[in-house]
Amino acid sequence: MNLILLGPPGAGKGTMAFKLKEEYKLPHISTGDLFREAIKQQTDLGKKVKSIMDAGNLVPDELTSALVKEKLEQPECRRGFILDGFPRTIPQAEALKTFSSIDKVINFTIPEEEIIRRLSGRRVCRSCGESYHTEFIPPAKKGLCDKCSGELYTRDDDTVDAIKNRLAVYRTSTAPLIDFYQKEGLIENVDSSPAPEEVLNILKKILDSRN
Ligand code: ADP
Ligand code: ZN
Repeated sequence: MNLILLGPPGAGKGTMAFKLKEEYKLPHISTGDLFREAIKQQTDLGKKVKSIMDAGNLVPDELTSALVKEKLEQPECRRGFILDGFPRTIPQAEALKTFSSIDKVINFTIPEEEIIRRLSGRRVCRSCGESYHTEFIPPAKKGLCDKCSGELYTRDDDTVDAIKNRLAVYRTSTAPLIDFYQKEGLIENVDSSPAPEEVLNILKKILDSRN
């Protein structure tokens, strides 16, 4: 099963990808996580993308597509994969077509006020990448991951200014992908305003009935 998770920042793509990965034993490929890891390791890629990401802008298409192509060529992606945060532009979707085929595109929908509320309270585990929310999905112990006891932190692009910019970038560059994949007959719209467990159940119904 080759899956794309589409939707605005804060729609819960990462949270759902994490749960789907456990449920279906598929690799989770998050371009955002790959870039953040490169920044942490201070690689050439990391140095190139740090300021772009912090401002909430998009990393250039060629760079991003090449990174994903390399990942999808790994043996663990042969049985399928979950793409989270890629493609984010039409040129990226065109590039993806040249090196992979997609079975389904889940398009998460959510009101904009809810996005801002979610992102400004988001905390992420530094070790395993699991997402929490100070108010909606609090960890059992403040500041620590339930899964691995890793430290929870606030992403550099979860500031109000960067969030507003990410939403603007989403509207101009990413939203056109809904139409792109609609034309290919691959889109499933999923309201992601309910709690994570409820959204997961809806996703499971869609994915288990897929043929
Ligand atoms: P969110 O979905 O919450 O915005 P991500 O972790 O998916 O967060 O992405 C964070 C940032 O990483 C983006 O704002 C952008 O700078 C960069 N990025 C991630 N995926 C892509 C992509 N496919 N193309 C270009 N830039 C990307
Ligand atoms: Zn963790």
